[in-house]
Amino acid sequence: MKKAADALAQSATEAAAAAPSRPSRRSALQGAGLLALGAVGGCALPVGADSRATVQTPFDVARPLLPIVGTSEQFPVRRIYCIGRNYAAHAREMGSDPTRELPFFFQKPSDALQLVAPGATTDHPYPPLTKNYHYEIELVAALSKGGRNIAAGDALQHVYGYTIGLDMTRRDLQRAMGDEKKPWEIGKSFDRSAPMGPLHRVADVGHFTRGAIWLKVNGQVKQSADLKQMIWSVAEQISKLSEAFELMPGDLIYSGTPENVGPVVRGDVMEGHIDGLPNLSVRVV
Ligand code: MN
Repeated sequence: MKKAADALAQSATEAAAAAPSRPSRRSALQGAGLLALGAVGGCALPVGADSRATVQTPFDVARPLLPIVGTSEQFPVRRIYCIGRNYAAHAREMGSDPTRELPFFFQKPSDALQLVAPGATTDHPYPPLTKNYHYEIELVAALSKGGRNIAAGDALQHVYGYTIGLDMTRRDLQRAMGDEKKPWEIGKSFDRSAPMGPLHRVADVGHFTRGAIWLKVNGQVKQSADLKQMIWSVAEQISKLSEAFELMPGDLIYSGTPENVGPVVRGDVMEGHIDGLPNLSVRVV
């Protein structure tokens, strides 16, 4: 026992000796706190955010990134927000009244992102626990500016770019949890539930307020609509979302899916399209 205690004391001493050249966890946290104070003054880092150049961690955690088309840069993804029932016909098929409902939002973890490179078909694993795995094709907006209570008229200035994405859904689990008034996470927010293409800058593709959006499965059209049929526009979504959450650079927003969501099984190939963006192709494996 004495030996072990000595060894512990020894290693503690070594740690103390090493401390001046290596920021301790406590000082790192204090540093993050200072950065968080900076956030009040407009710095983008929230409480607990690190500055990877100075903070030491016992292991690395992958940071979700989206390639930015036409550049060598990657877009760092902070949060993935999704709006529910944002096309009237889809709201009806999900059993709600599109004329009365305020927009509502849920999140997927940012590491649910699965990058789908254009011009190829990406394998997407069928997830566990479900027997009713649904596609939802959606326009995704990416923010480079944050804020609270953003006016709809100013909201598009916060958008850096757009891509096409799938809000993959374990529909049976989502419905079961809804029926029991439990959270949707297991139905919506699981691993790789957010396949999407690389990001296109507004400077290159403009804003998306209209244009065809469709999804084919094995070459057959399943979903087909126009972006102008959204109940809440991207600008309105940003505005509403910013009343509930402080938005930050790096946030993504799935803008809702049109009607005719439906199931896929292993072997199915989904092809998604939005006018002005390259198609997305995913094989369920
Ligand atoms: Mn959706």
